[in-house]
Amino acid sequence: METAYTFVPSPNHIYPDHPERPGRLDTLKPKLDSYDAEQLDAKPASHDEIGLVHDPKFVSTLEKVCREEAPAVIDYAPTYVTKTSFEDALLAAGGVLTCSRAVLNGDAKNAFAIVRPPGHHAEPDKAMGFCIFNNVAIAARDALTHGLDRVMVLDYDAHHGNGTQAAFLNDERVGFLSAHQWGIYPGTGWITDAPHAKKRVVNVPLPAYAGDTVYEQVADQIFKPFVESFKPQMIFISVGFDAHWNDPITMLGLSSNGYSTLANKVVALAEKYCDGKIVFVLEGGYDPVNVANGTDGAFEALTKSKYGNEANDPNPYREPDCESRIEEIRKWHGLS
Ligand SMILES: [Zn+2]
Repeated sequence: METAYTFVPSPNHIYPDHPERPGRLDTLKPKLDSYDAEQLDAKPASHDEIGLVHDPKFVSTLEKVCREEAPAVIDYAPTYVTKTSFEDALLAAGGVLTCSRAVLNGDAKNAFAIVRPPGHHAEPDKAMGFCIFNNVAIAARDALTHGLDRVMVLDYDAHHGNGTQAAFLNDERVGFLSAHQWGIYPGTGWITDAPHAKKRVVNVPLPAYAGDTVYEQVADQIFKPFVESFKPQMIFISVGFDAHWNDPITMLGLSSNGYSTLANKVVALAEKYCDGKIVFVLEGGYDPVNVANGTDGAFEALTKSKYGNEANDPNPYREPDCESRIEEIRKWHGLS
């Protein structure tokens, strides 16, 4: 098997008028069969696996809230739960583990875990920002219990991956990078957030409308030297398609073509530095067409095939010049 994927749409994890809804995957779903990739059955994560990142007290409280109080809103983002959300979240986390283990044990070359609810805002002791369990963090730590010494999470969802940062703030085996819009939810992710972890916890806060040109510079001038210096044995991508210019809840400027370029660049980095071991994990992205187009681009990069992605949706806004910001970040971390 070359490329594997899991699909966990969680149709019953739904709340009236909430952007993190099953319909996000509606345009993508009929295309899945056309990818040159094998679908694996997602297996729910066990409590022990969730416990690789999360406090057992938080997990049992969350289970109780889902059973007894749902439907309910559990934080101000707002993050919601339904009667099925606990099982849905276990399956989402398990869907990522299924992919990462297939890559780890050599059954697949690379993989994409298309799951919801998303995970990167969930901190060890709390659900947050539409996220219940931190799917990518659980899989990254699981990889470390299966023989790897160094893994990396690159997060280019539009929002700061605060939960993943919190999980790995003091874990020297994990490199973490988040590129995100500065000044929006959750408010964290400035360059100097983790002064004790230079060259290991890297934040790339970007101004509104930063798009294809800026992200290409970020990939070449920050992702690349970061991977070169950290030397991960496996890379996880927290990919959110909400950095697209017409996402309804953010103001960044990537196009579908820009997402494809990024996917190609991170896959090439994995091929050069970690034997091709890379797992994409879906985070946000609230326009179903952007999610489908972005996923097309990711599968094209993973499988080296073309799927007739004709998306032509250039950013209509003028991009800000981010060269001095990028230089400031490179300098802070001593990347060269
Ligand atoms: Zn997001």
